[in-house]
Amino acid sequence: MDMTAQDARVLETDIAVIGAGPAGLAFARALAGSGLGVTLIERSPEAALANPAFDGREIALTYRSQHLLRELGAWEGIPSEQISPLREARVLDGGSPFALTFAPGRQEGAPLGVLVANHLIRRALFTTVREAGCADLLAGVAVTSVETTPKEGTLRLADGREIRAQLVVAADTRFSGARRQMGIGARMHDFGKSMLVARVSHEKPHGGIATEWFGHGQTVAMLPLAGDTSSIVLTLPARQIEALVAMEPEAFDAEVTRRTAARWGELRLSGTRHAYPLVATFARRFAGTRFALLGDAAVGMHPVTAHGFNLGLAGAHRLAAEIRGALARGRSIADPGALLRYEMAHRRATWPLFTATNAIASLYTDDRAPARVLRGAVLRLGAALTPVRRLVTAQLMDAEAA
Ligand SMILES: Cc1cc2nc3c(=O)[nH]c(=O)nc-3n(C[C@H](O)[C@H](O)[C@H](O)COP(=O)(O)OP(=O)(O)OC[C@H]3O[C@@H](n4cnc5c(N)ncnc54)[C@H](O)[C@@H]3O)c2cc1C
Repeated sequence: MDMTAQDARVLETDIAVIGAGPAGLAFARALAGSGLGVTLIERSPEAALANPAFDGREIALTYRSQHLLRELGAWEGIPSEQISPLREARVLDGGSPFALTFAPGRQEGAPLGVLVANHLIRRALFTTVREAGCADLLAGVAVTSVETTPKEGTLRLADGREIRAQLVVAADTRFSGARRQMGIGARMHDFGKSMLVARVSHEKPHGGIATEWFGHGQTVAMLPLAGDTSSIVLTLPARQIEALVAMEPEAFDAEVTRRTAARWGELRLSGTRHAYPLVATFARRFAGTRFALLGDAAVGMHPVTAHGFNLGLAGAHRLAAEIRGALARGRSIADPGALLRYEMAHRRATWPLFTATNAIASLYTDDRAPARVLRGAVLRLGAALTPVRRLVTAQLMDAEAA
């Protein structure tokens, strides 16, 4: 990455990408070989990008995402022993012994998807961007303002520098500052709960089965990792999550063993604990004049259906393809038609999942009696309707390329 760029006060580039998270990195890498100058601006220091710390997120990757990561040269950067197959997913409701099961058809025999820790995906994407030499990186500095005109886009950085770009792409979290600066609103759904994620070892094997369990007053998911280890995902009001994060490890072990009714035997914390507020966001527009939103900045999903990064990766691929198409037709890389096509295709691919995910998350975190009855019925109905189950499984496996 070009370090001489660090000194200049005004920098010119073709595409300025705000945020070197997984979506920003994937997008920059997808443009490798296009001949375009891409500048990534990231507020975290470079060391945190090159070697990101474990952040508790275990990302369920669909087949399509695995394929895209392979194309980007990132897949081989993920150690194979850190890729955990997801053989089956079960949904349980309260104390009911009834389980709705999602498993691949017998003839397929392949897992539903795989789980990979988010920090390993970030590291692999950063490495492939660096090795491809496809972007200049300005790390450790935040973008403070964004402005675009029909002629160009201008970013101001916290250290006083300015960047002028043909196109500005914002991949700066679901609470995107650039989105706000550009006057683009977003639907926000605050679930009023937080999510705790941590790795735990347990006595009984998980069999590669992910379990989502909607107990009264809490939601627990156990995501199967290597050996007798899982990622526990607990959804509770923020105050209770804070208490769980602050608890002594032994007390935490006892508490999560109790909360999982010892289904997996005794649980033992085997790493750091992380908390995330549950707010889903959907931008009202994904594109504007010389401007596009990407990743969580466009669509910030509730994690329950494990689609956020999968959609972000598909969006990065889509936007890069539109830009390459515009270039091939001799058009501007900020061609309004190309940006509109990206917006429409990405909206079509994400809106149904976004609304369905919010409905599921709301139904399963509502402990009022009607909701309890309804979700029991939904589970049984889903089980009775084999085509519905097949459809959900196909979605999980991304059988239809998004
Ligand atoms: C608990 C949990 C579990 C999840 N599980 C799954 C799953 O199973 N499957 C799945 O597909 N997805 C999952 N997700 C979602 C996934 O983690 C996100 O969709 C993904 O990280 C979004 O990537 P991003 O690059 O858009 O944003 P981020 O990861 O938020 O990165 C944005 C980057 O922008 C930088 N930035 C922000 N503002 C500025 C600024 N002003 N200037 C410069 N830089 C800036 C930030 O420092 C950051 O590095 C999960 C999320 C959570 C919280």
